[in-house]
Amino acid sequence: MSSTEHFDVLIVGAGISGVGVAFHLQDKRPDSSYVILESKDTFGGTWVTHTYPGIRSDSDLYTFGYRFKPWVGAPIATAQEILNYMGEVIDENGIDQHIRYHHHISDASWSSDDALWSVTSTNTQTGETKLFTANFLWMCQGYYRHDEGYTPDWDGMADYQGEVVHPQTWPDDIDLEGKDVIVIGSGATAATLVPNIAGDCNHVTVLQRSPTYFRAGRNVNEIADQLREVDIDEEWIHEIVRRRILFEQHEFTKLAKGFPEEVKEALINDLREHLPEDYDIDPHFTPTYRPWRQRLAFVPDADLFEGIKAGKATMVTDEIDTFTEKGILTKSGEELMADVIITATGFHLSVLGNIDFTVDGEKIDFADTVTYRGMMFTGVPNMNWIFGYFRASWTLRVDIVADFVIRMLDHMDSLGARKVTPQLRPEDQGMEIGPWMDPEDFNPGYLMRSMHLMPKSGDSPRWAHTQDYWNEQKELPLVDLTNDGLVFD
Ligand SMILES: Cc1cc2nc3c(=O)[nH]c(=O)nc-3n(C[C@H](O)[C@H](O)[C@H](O)COP(=O)(O)OP(=O)(O)OC[C@H]3O[C@@H](n4cnc5c(N)ncnc54)[C@H](O)[C@@H]3O)c2cc1C
Repeated sequence: MSSTEHFDVLIVGAGISGVGVAFHLQDKRPDSSYVILESKDTFGGTWVTHTYPGIRSDSDLYTFGYRFKPWVGAPIATAQEILNYMGEVIDENGIDQHIRYHHHISDASWSSDDALWSVTSTNTQTGETKLFTANFLWMCQGYYRHDEGYTPDWDGMADYQGEVVHPQTWPDDIDLEGKDVIVIGSGATAATLVPNIAGDCNHVTVLQRSPTYFRAGRNVNEIADQLREVDIDEEWIHEIVRRRILFEQHEFTKLAKGFPEEVKEALINDLREHLPEDYDIDPHFTPTYRPWRQRLAFVPDADLFEGIKAGKATMVTDEIDTFTEKGILTKSGEELMADVIITATGFHLSVLGNIDFTVDGEKIDFADTVTYRGMMFTGVPNMNWIFGYFRASWTLRVDIVADFVIRMLDHMDSLGARKVTPQLRPEDQGMEIGPWMDPEDFNPGYLMRSMHLMPKSGDSPRWAHTQDYWNEQKELPLVDLTNDGLVFD
């Protein structure tokens, strides 16, 4: 093992979260030394892991982009456009000199005597291990495993003679020309993939167990375009358009919660104009859950529905009974034939990067902790996890949590404290403890499968990830650090 290096702040992951917090840290605490350790050979996280055809955001980039760097393109962006944008942030701010690629973190241990984290990394090219120490650990490793997507274990999979592909590990050399393809799943990934492969394939069948909400619209922002026409500064456009989008999203969220049936009907009705006349919309596009219990899949320029109209793509809403030699037998008895089956069936949730954590020699099981505001954990000192929003753009939370952490670090300096640990206050003892997220509120498959591994929540925003940007952006800057369940010593 080579010699130990020390930094004030150690950031894990060079995705959109890690790069964002690095910007804020060096902007507001220029005297803090920091390093970003990243296991891949480049920055971007999600946007380099996923390389399937058409890979793009489903949020608009005015809000998925950082608040400090104007977005100047179409609202829905390709992975490459997002990487270009992040690359500019890195270059313009000299963040590149702080990133160490090929550094995979396997364990992190906290010592209260030294008030330090010790973090072990393994070089993914050379196998060399290295020890880092840091006063503060900023976990920006995302929320799912990057090496492998989630594929259920269906009966008969071994008998299937064709190719099975997960979009997260998309083979560069796959040839879909003239092939019959089944895509299992109908979330955002399937909605992106299908229109982007349908032209090559002979036919694509989208096999979904249950329908998803879709929203179709043009991939433009008219306000931004109008302001550009009259030469308004991009900084202004970014701010104005962000505020407008956030306002509209807030109104929509309130409406979806207050009037779920009406919103459901409106969403489904909107799709009619994009589907063939007399299309049987009910079985395929009428979800059983309330709008916004799962992420709403945006379909830019209605491209998914073009494929359906053109007869290149067909929806089948049914359950898989078994794989066969030639395809899939559904529970209703239909055999769907395919040369290739694409399993757009989601992710494996990863709790804090599957890193082994110890605090003063005790192994941490995060399921035994309670989250402080969806960003820190009881009994775990000097550590923050950037876990963004699902219903709003993830990155909105990067900016506001970074502000909060920096305020907290400044507060520690002013107290001369070396340690900050979330701890339930006397008045919090006995509060009701529940899962990380209320399944009644938000229930995508990857979260439901692994919720038991996640930290717990209490009964107030102080002890939960509320997924509510609109409240948090007002509340977080006002939190009284001296009486909020944070112990400084
Ligand atoms: C296909 C897809 C599309 C999405 N689209 C949107 C969208 O439109 N809008 C939205 O808000 N959200 C979207 N999301 C959610 C998305 O993941 C987040 O918005 C955001 O990109 C997460 O950024 P991150 O930096 O927190 O994590 P990630 O992008 O997951 O990056 C984490 C980084 O940490 C590194 N890392 C992890 N563990 C370790 C370790 N142990 N040691 C060293 N490095 C490590 C990883 O290699 C990776 O580079 C999408 C997700 C997917 C999968």
